[in-house]
This record gives sequence, C-alpha cells and structure tokens, in this order.
Amino acid sequence: MVHFVGAGPGAPDLITRRGAALLQKADCIIYAGSLVNPALLGLAKADCAIYNSAEMTLEQVLDVMRQMEAAGKITVRLHTGDPCLYGAIREQMDVLDAEGIPYDDTPGVSSFCGAAAALNAEYTLPTVSQTVIITRMEGRTPVPEKEKLASLAAHGATMVIFLSIGLVDKVQQALLEGGAYTPDTPAAVVYKATWPEEKTVRCTVGTLAESVHAAGITKTALIVAGGFLGRNYERSKLYDPAFTTEFRKGTDQ
Ligand code: SAH
Repeated sequence: MVHFVGAGPGAPDLITRRGAALLQKADCIIYAGSLVNPALLGLAKADCAIYNSAEMTLEQVLDVMRQMEAAGKITVRLHTGDPCLYGAIREQMDVLDAEGIPYDDTPGVSSFCGAAAALNAEYTLPTVSQTVIITRMEGRTPVPEKEKLASLAAHGATMVIFLSIGLVDKVQQALLEGGAYTPDTPAAVVYKATWPEEKTVRCTVGTLAESVHAAGITKTALIVAGGFLGRNYERSKLYDPAFTTEFRKGTDQ
C-alpha cells in the first residue's frame, strides 16, 4: 500500500500523529527533498529504503512504488505541507488507480497555515475579507488565463501566493494592476515558516519587491497581501454578547 502523507510546513513536530506513525512503519519513504525537513526521516526504521524525489522523475517515483507493492511493502510518499496544494499527487494517484495499487492520503499542516502562525494573523477578519485566494504567479509553469494574478487581485480578498518569490517584481505589479489593493495595502513575506531559520518581512504591496530583495529572500517563501494585516476589523458575531447562537443566549433576545 502507498500512503501519501503531508509532512507539515517544516518543524518536525508539526506532522500529524497519523503521519508520524506511518513514517515509523514504512518500508520505503519517498520524500520531497527540497522542502521536507530531513529530521522527519529520523522516524524511519533502520532498514527503510529512502528516496529523495527532488532527484527523480514521476516515472521513477512510480517504479519504486510498483516494486514495493509487488514485494508487499509499505511506501510513504511524503509531501511538504499538505499534499493537496501543488503536490502533484493526482498524476501519481491516477496511475496507482489504473494499476490497482491501493493508497490513502493523510493531510498535513500547509505552509499557508504556518505562515499565518508566523505572522500571528487571521486570514478571515470580519468586514475585511472572508475569502482566501491561494494561487501562484505564472512562470515556467502557466496558470489558466482566467486565473491571472491581476484578475484575482481585483477581489481585494486575502491573497496567499505560493511558488512565486523569485518573481516578486511581477507579483507586485500584478497585485496593483488588479485595482483593489493600493500601494499602502499591507503585505508580508514568510520565509521557511516554522523552520528554525524562519523569517518574516512585513511591508506593503507598494514596497513588496524592494523589501524581499533587501531581505535577500529568493526561495521557500509565501507572499501574503490584504487588509487582514491591517489594524481595522470588526469583532466576530460569534462572541458578541448581543448575538444569540445555538449554544448561548445573547442580550438581543
Ligand atoms: N504542499 C505545500 C506547497 C508545495 S509548493 C504546502 O501545503 O505548503 C512549494 C511552495 O510552498 C514553496 O515555493 C513556497 O512558496 C511554499 N512553502 C512550502 N513550505 C514553506 C514554508 N515552510 N514557508 C514558506 N513557504 C513555504
């Protein structure tokens, strides 16, 4: 059987208990070497076969899975954060389905949650934004025409931009082109959220690129933007003394 597992954003104790248990019983671990914390491999059995998928093609990854399955072994495919975001899991799962190899998926803490924690931020502030747009800037990998960063930026919602720190100048331009953010809209960059070398840079959309260049951040970072990083918001209805909920009678009754 193959277990897809989310490794979490970096800190080894941010993997789920289920993910850790699977690593402990795996006969083979194929980990996304560029971003998964190697400390997690310390959970592996002494005789566990370990592969770094950063140096492999999809075909090579699938070949290892096939061989392990044929030998009745347990494979863990360890992806950074949660496998459901930019994890390239679908192309693996479709082949496993076609070949009748069973698998399951254990979620992990995505780096966008790790970044919010690093910033002590809430992405969904009442009256500011109730929507989080998770996206990337097009680069060598295209994005669908309707999802160009500038058009997504037109919503003025909370924006979390993956895989784009190397294109930060274009990101800044696209965010402003959208028309809803101004040069003063707050923004931030989180480098290696939850790793010991984590770094946060707070800036505005207008100073985003220069701030990233000044900090020397070139990879493994998320760009976030939106009013959620500002000062103004309304408190939530849920804890408002006047508001009645299923569990609590409010003073408005
Ligand atoms: N599945 C992963 C994302 C993989 S795509 C997840 O859920 O987080 C890889 C991109 O994720 C990186 O280019 C970077 O933008 C972001 N990323 C991954 N780990 C990160 C971390 N610890 N801190 C900041 N960004 C991170």
